[in-house]
This record gives sequence, C-alpha cells and structure tokens, in this order.
Amino acid sequence: MKISKAELEKVAVLEKQYPISNLPEFAFAGRSNVGKSSFINAMLNRKNLARTSSTPGKTRTINFYKVNEALRLVDLPGYGYAKVAKTEKEKWAGIINRYLENRENLLETILLVDIRHEPTNLDKQMYDYIIHSGFSGIVIATKKDKIKRSQVDKQISLISKKLGVEHRENIIPFSSSEKNEVKDMWFIFEDMIKF
Ligand code: GDP
Repeated sequence: MKISKAELEKVAVLEKQYPISNLPEFAFAGRSNVGKSSFINAMLNRKNLARTSSTPGKTRTINFYKVNEALRLVDLPGYGYAKVAKTEKEKWAGIINRYLENRENLLETILLVDIRHEPTNLDKQMYDYIIHSGFSGIVIATKKDKIKRSQVDKQISLISKKLGVEHRENIIPFSSSEKNEVKDMWFIFEDMIKF
C-alpha cells in the first residue's frame, strides 16, 4: 500500500479518549522492547512517527496511527517489563484489556515476538487471548536481521511450539531495519480488510 498520509491521531488511556470507531483497526501487542514502534515506523515508511526508545516500559498509552484516512495501526502498551510494581502491571493489563474487549472496529490483534528468543509465558497468555477472541493469530517475529538466515526455521519452530501456533505460515519473520517484508505485510492487512 502506498502511504500517502500517516499521523499519530490520538494517544489514549481511557475509552472516552479513543478516536471514533469509524475505521478498521489493527492492534499490535508484545512485550516492551520487542520492536513495536520500529515495526509501525517501517510500515508507515516513517523514521520517527512511533517513538522507539532504549528505555523499555515507559509507554503506558494506546497510540492510534491513522493511515491514508482508511485504517488505523494501534500500538498497545508493551507488557512484561520486570522493573515495575505489580499495581503498575495491573494498570497496564487493564488498559490493554479494556481496548481489546470493547473495540467494535478492531479487525485483528497481532502479537509481536523477538525472533531470537523463546516467547515468554506472558506472550503465550496474550496469544491464547488473541485466539480465544477469534482473531487469526498472526505473529510477527521481529529483528530477523539479527539472526543468520539459516537459523530462521529453527526459531520459527521454537516460537510456534511455545505459543501453540496452528499454522506455521502465520508466523512472519520481519526486519524493521531491512524493511523487505513491509509490502507483503500490507497485502496481508489489505486482504483482511476486504474479507
Ligand atoms: P518497542 O518497545 O516494542 O516499541 O520497541 P522499539 O521499536 O523501541 O525497539 C526496541 C529496540 O530494538 C530499539 O533499539 C530498536 O532499534 C531495536 N529494533 C527494533 N526492531 C528491530 C529490527 O527489526 N532490527 C534490528 N536490528 N533492531 C530492531
């Protein structure tokens, strides 16, 4: 898809702060530092629209990016950052759950995991939740450029096994620095809108 316009439309915590539910939305979940902001920047062909940071765990808002006045990419707060208090973690879970459970124009929720590592138990919980909610269960395996091409298959198997992914093709290796998969990813999203 040609990106003619991309903007950070809204930064929200509470439901009343969400933009009106007039466009299909794709939400992205994953632990902090997995590469969500970088993924969104790559997809939108922008360097810095979504903030990337080397201090994980700071974002606790839902960021709505409007694309071509046609759809939104929604960056959910990253989870699993060890150095925050339990009450804080619960607050984040609340923010994520409220959005996922109540958003009628939410078309897909997509999990991001780091291709180098076995997914965590929190990733597994998130994936189960995604599947139980009736979404397709697409997983983006980020930072593909950080491993050798010969290791990709093995890592996909590891991710597939831990998460219990039914179809391996649903795990899509992705590099935000090389950006080779951006076009195909847009085809997938566009197909989902047409369905
Ligand atoms: P977020 O917390 O999930 O939004 O993660 P960020 O997008 O901020 O990425 C965390 C770190 O990983 C940053 O230092 C990024 O530059 C790096 N990163 C993210 N995606 C990639 C990728 O595909 N390849 C490489 N080499 N680094 C990446």
